Amino acid sequence: MTRPTTIMNQSYDIIVAGAGLGGMTAANRLAQAGHKVLLAEQHSIIGGLATYFKRKQHVFDVALHGFPIGMKKSFRKYWGKEFADRVVQVKSIRFDNPQFKLETTFDTADFTEKLVSFFKIPQQVVDDFFATLAEMNYYDDNQDTIRDLFNRFFPGRTDVWRFLLEPITYANGSGLDEPAIAYGIVFGNFMSQGVYTFQGGTDLMIKMMGDRLRENGVEIKTSSKVEKILVEDGKVRGAMINGREVPCRAVVFNGNLKRLVKELVGEEHFPAEYLSGFRQVRLSNSSCQVYLGIKPGESLPYIGDLIFSSEHPEYDTAALLSPTITSRTFSVYYPELRPGSNKYSIVASMNANYGDWQGLDRETIRRRKQDLVENTLAVLERMVPGIREKVDYIETSTPLTFERYTGHAFGATFGTKFEGLDYSTTIQNQVAGLFHTGSVGIIMSGWLGAANYGVITANDVDKYIRK
Ligand SMILES: Cc1cc2nc3c(=O)[nH]c(=O)nc-3n(C[C@H](O)[C@H](O)[C@H](O)COP(=O)(O)OP(=O)(O)OC[C@H]3O[C@@H](n4cnc5c(N)ncnc54)[C@H](O)[C@@H]3O)c2cc1C
Repeated sequence: MTRPTTIMNQSYDIIVAGAGLGGMTAANRLAQAGHKVLLAEQHSIIGGLATYFKRKQHVFDVALHGFPIGMKKSFRKYWGKEFADRVVQVKSIRFDNPQFKLETTFDTADFTEKLVSFFKIPQQVVDDFFATLAEMNYYDDNQDTIRDLFNRFFPGRTDVWRFLLEPITYANGSGLDEPAIAYGIVFGNFMSQGVYTFQGGTDLMIKMMGDRLRENGVEIKTSSKVEKILVEDGKVRGAMINGREVPCRAVVFNGNLKRLVKELVGEEHFPAEYLSGFRQVRLSNSSCQVYLGIKPGESLPYIGDLIFSSEHPEYDTAALLSPTITSRTFSVYYPELRPGSNKYSIVASMNANYGDWQGLDRETIRRRKQDLVENTLAVLERMVPGIREKVDYIETSTPLTFERYTGHAFGATFGTKFEGLDYSTTIQNQVAGLFHTGSVGIIMSGWLGAANYGVITANDVDKYIRK
């Protein structure tokens, strides 16, 4: 898989730039439709944020906390049954914060039960809340924010707000002032039937995807950066990859939307009307992670699969993003994830602002990372006494790490915020043959959103090429 770009003297129907879930799914669909596709990835492995890394005997999953059941259907339809068959439900998700401690299977029935029995919200209010979420539609012109939505159903109940929103904030940094519609769709997706994972881990999934792409005829080039998208007379004519011009009829860009317009294509190719709104699009936040590998032969007691742990008194988006960490999500990986492996690992994830890490000297970064590790271990110690003796490998990532490996401006882990979606979907109307997929807003993000967006974009590209 780590094959750097060799001489590409050929031309392609389509160059997909970026092998994240959106790019890979688009490339797979387009090759299945009979097109000649090059998948060019700047990193030495494919997967994008849905990635893993190996250290000593450990395998660390970077973005496998869980995904909604809809991913099973998307795997089956767009990748094959053997992918869908590996989707298994995680058993338990825990909340541990000063307002409440509880355990849930994260599905509508259990959330309803918790809201009614634990938080003492009248059944009718809960039913009305879920009915409102179910009716939300992206195309409705609903200007409500999440704060408006929560105030309407649960005024003053910051404990309930925390229960309903904290997992989403952890996942993508969305706060109370984001559009209610985005929350409704994402929460609705997750809430339907619980949280799922990929048995075998991210390493197996990525290997299976690479194999499937090649079987379907996609040419994969890793360590191959698309430096420029070549546009002539308002139309894509090729891409510059590692200093070499490669002709094509269309480019699907899977990386950061802001970088696409500003650096890869150039603002001069876009109408002023598009640019004026585009400049207001905000980037998403970033993340820090602490990866802990458990010594061979050691084990962990079952403490839940996903633990939303916070010491902050109330739900607070700014506090969740602050470099003074009070909140984190623990993903605990037991041997069942990789049957027969007897491997345990823990990944702690924290939201972060790129600006809090940008420009720091090496020594400050080292100290900050050490603090992250210390705080993580101190919180874990309460759940797993003696954890320090069980761990034999620790590594930390910061927003700078995410920027380096994915090329996302400012380490944005979800590309752009919600408003980026319109600019992503309409980019094809600005420059003929130019398409974007992946990492926009909270709807088209996460494993499910990115994969499904890949399919939507592939359908548009197919129509364009056949015109
Ligand atoms: C810490 C963390 C935890 C997460 N946990 C979960 C989770 O539990 N469940 C879930 O559903 N989602 C999770 N996500 C989100 C999910 O992983 C992402 O939304 C999804 O994988 C993004 O896919 P994408 O298609 O947007 O592409 P990305 O993953 O953003 O990949 C884009 C690819 O394009 C490449 N690229 C960029 N520029 C160029 C260029 N010029 N030339 C060539 N290649 C280029 C990059 O190297 C990268 O490989 C998590 C994300 C993070 C960061």
